[in-house]
Parts: sequence; structure tokens; C-alpha cells
Amino acid sequence: MRDMITGRCGGIALLTKLKICYHLIIMKNKYLPTIGLEIHAELRTASKMFCSCRNDPDEDRPNTNICPICLGHPGTLPVLNFAAIKKVLEVGTAVGGELADFTEWDRKNYYYPDIPKGYQISQFKYPLISGGSLGGVEIERIHLEEDTAQSTHDMTSCAGLPCADLSLVNFNRSGVPLMELVTKPVIHDAETAVRFAKELQLLLRYLGAGEANMEKGEMRVEANISVALTAQTLGTKTEVKNLNSFKTVEKAIAYEIERQSALLDDGQSVKQETRGWDDVAEETYSQRSKESSHDYRYFPDPDIPKLKLSLIDGFDRDTISQSLPELPWVKRDRYMKDYSMTDKEVAVFIESPTIANYFDAVIAAYEKDPKKVKLTINYILSEYMGLLKKIPLRNTKGATAEDAIGMIEASLFGEIIELIANGDVSSRGAKDLLNILVTTSAAESDGSLKGSNATSASARSIAEKHGLIQKSDASDLIPAIEKVISDNAKVVAEYKAGKVASIQFLIGQAMKATKGAGNPEVVKRLLLEKLG
Ligand SMILES: [Zn+2]
Repeated sequence: MRDMITGRCGGIALLTKLKICYHLIIMKNKYLPTIGLEIHAELRTASKMFCSCRNDPDEDRPNTNICPICLGHPGTLPVLNFAAIKKVLEVGTAVGGELADFTEWDRKNYYYPDIPKGYQISQFKYPLISGGSLGGVEIERIHLEEDTAQSTHDMTSCAGLPCADLSLVNFNRSGVPLMELVTKPVIHDAETAVRFAKELQLLLRYLGAGEANMEKGEMRVEANISVALTAQTLGTKTEVKNLNSFKTVEKAIAYEIERQSALLDDGQSVKQETRGWDDVAEETYSQRSKESSHDYRYFPDPDIPKLKLSLIDGFDRDTISQSLPELPWVKRDRYMKDYSMTDKEVAVFIESPTIANYFDAVIAAYEKDPKKVKLTINYILSEYMGLLKKIPLRNTKGATAEDAIGMIEASLFGEIIELIANGDVSSRGAKDLLNILVTTSAAESDGSLKGSNATSASARSIAEKHGLIQKSDASDLIPAIEKVISDNAKVVAEYKAGKVASIQFLIGQAMKATKGAGNPEVVKRLLLEKLG
């Protein structure tokens, strides 16, 4: 709280903001904030929502994936993309919502240069999904619509023309399937709102429904915020639009709660309006008074067939339910319950389905016991990921270390874990072994992420080849230990005279004498035996 006050008030100069600071310090917790979220997410499908143009968010040549339909030419006819509908039904099933039986699409009428046909095709009365909940937050509805084109206003180079007079429109995004999820107004703080948005992002990624990168505009959050004295009444809400990062969502909601509370304290009222977020000033600002839905004059689009979903093959709840992968929250519970992972470990695994799948494959490779599982968690997260971050990932645009996780096959990784667990390889030796495998695999592969799979040999044979198998047999170690004892008579005498710490020096010398191949546990035991 103290940081929030200094953080927020530190950069504030104006009188209105001083009122917010005053409110923050003096009047905290007087009002109950209520927040509802509207989240738009672009879906990952091969083609757009109503035409066969490619749906490629990475296309950086403007106006490449376009046709008369997504340009909004009059007289063109939209054709439904059933793959996009299915993705929304999957999301709806995952959150336990009710799947519509009857559904239709509506025209939401408004004009903007990025929506030149004068309406956006959306769903109004019959959304695909009603109800459900995610992370404890109740969902009102999920529907499917088309994304708009993108306008650019702030250009720095305009072919000799005055930039201030020009705007550009790029239609690559026009007609991309866009899912809109609306929560019930049941959230009461910024942290919960952010947690919900993060959980939705995760779900979309697990379902392969979309990447939902907020920074790329693939997921966009709008927050409806109001404050009231009691939980029974709702205050006048404002809608903050275009929040393009989780941090921004959190800051904008916190700011708006403070601003509205300060207004009420001041005897003023909150105006129902749409507000934007200024990232530099870290404040919301008025954009326009809020339209209500009748301003859009929704009506069913006569060009799109109405659907009875139960008549469509594979669109029933049971079939969709069976096709879903393990959901992030189910996996999270399993990891915590079955493998006693820490919160931090769970977070890393759950946020990356790639790493989680690899982990699942490794632990399936050996007979499970808690020690091996713990070793697997540690070695994947620290050693292995660390090594993968260091190798150059050639030929693969935008590849990350986690994309390269298959460099060492999961079954081979499992064998390495068994070697460590059995004491056949020391932790030092295991690090060397992983390093050897990653380096060879990266060098012999063509730069692709799979590695060369030059490792048909077992982990044990590779470790043996590189002298990494620990010696645990007393007969292998005793000569070295006897030599250390005779070479270090003074230290041995000190130890026998009661200087217990001297044993560490002798273990070190013995390990050196075995060139690091001695099992330190066994070396210690043998030394103690010899010294009596
Ligand atoms: Zn098109």
C-alpha cells in the first residue's frame, strides 16, 4: 500500500491528482469497486471468419490477405468458418458454459474507416456460449464476431506528403475471427481481473485457439469499472478500452477506482463514458460518452444462415469435451498434488505447455518415485533450459529455448535421471552429460529444433564413453584412498586428534585422485572406515 501511494503520487503534479492521492491515503476502502471484463481474442484458424483469405497475424506486408468480402464490398456474400465456431465451443466447454443450440449472427451498425461496410458482423441475442466460470470468475457470455481492419495515424514517413493529414488502413486483420468473452460484474479488485485475463490467455493457448499475445493485439481487454458504497447497489460505470498488457489492465483499473472514489468524495458524480489509457501519464482520459446497445441497431444478418448446432456433426458437448486436452488448472492441481511442486515450479511448467508436455514424457519414461520426479523438475528447469538458452537456434525464425526442448529425447532424459538417482552419475557428471548431448545434437542437426537424434545410444553408454560414470565399488576406490592417507600424514594426524573438519580436505584429495569419478558418498564412507 505504501509503495502504491508513493508510486502513484510521486509523479503527480496536478490538483485533481492530489485529490486522488488524498483519497488514497485518507479514504481507502470506503467504496466497493465492481469490475466486469470484456476480452477480445483473435482465433488461430487457417482462414478468416467469412472468406477464404489467410488468417496470418504475422503477415507484415499491408493489405496482402484481402478479398472483396473482407474489404466490405457491397454485394459480396460472407461464408461461415466452422473451424472458428468450433474453437469457441471448445473454450465454452472448457469453462463449463452452456453451448447454444440455436445461434445467429447480427449486424452491429457503425461507420469507421476500418469497417467500411458500415457494420461489423457480431452476435447479439444468441451468443455461442452462455455462463460458465474461469478461475472463480463467472462468465456472462462468449460470442464470435469479425475483427476490423487496422488504422495507422502516427506515421513518421509519408512519401513527401504531410504526415499529420494522413492515415493508413491495413485490411489484413479485417474479418479475422474474433472471440469476445464478457464476464459478469463480479470482480472487485485489479489483481483478480489480471489473474482472470492471464488464465484465459493460458486456456486459449492450451486449446490451440489462439496465441493471445496482448502486446501484438491478439488479445485486448476492456474493463467496466464502477464504485459504490454498498454491495447491493452498482455505481455509474466507465469503460476503459484498449488495454494492451496485463500491467496496463492492473494500473488502469486501480487508477479508475481511485479516480471515481475521489469524485464521489468530492460530491461529484461519475459520468458514464468510454475512457482510454495514457501509458505515459499513467492515467485514464475521457474519449466519448458511452453508446448503449440500441445505438448500434443490431439486427440479424440476412446473408448468414442461422444454425442449429446440435445438427452439426461433432459440435455436441460430449464430442467436444472428449477432444479437449488436459486443461491448465487440472494440470496445475495434478502437479501440486502428485509431484509436490512449488508454486514457482508449477507456474513455469503450466505457462509453457511445451515444457509441461516434455516433463510428462520424461516421468513416463521411468518407474516413478518422488526422488526421481524432483530431480527431473530441477534438471529440466535449471540445467537443461539453461543449456538450451545458450545454443544458437539457426534456421528457425523466432524460436526460443523451449521450442528446442526435444533436443534430448524425453526417454533419454529419463535415463539420465535414473543414472543420477542411482548414484551412477554425480551432479557434476550429469551437467557434463547434458552439455555433451545438447552440444552434439545442436552441432549435428541442421539447426532445426529437433536435434540430430544421434543418440540411439543409451545414456549409460554415452556417460561411460566420456568417463562420467561414478565409481562406487570399494575395490576401485580403495587404492586411491590409501594413497591419500599416506600422502597426507599431517592432516590425518590432525583429524585423529579431533579436528573433524579435516575430513573434507581428505575427501577432496581422494576425489581428485579418482579424477572426479569417485562417488563422493562412497569415498567419504571408505575414508571414515580407514581412519577408524
Ligand atoms: Zn477476404
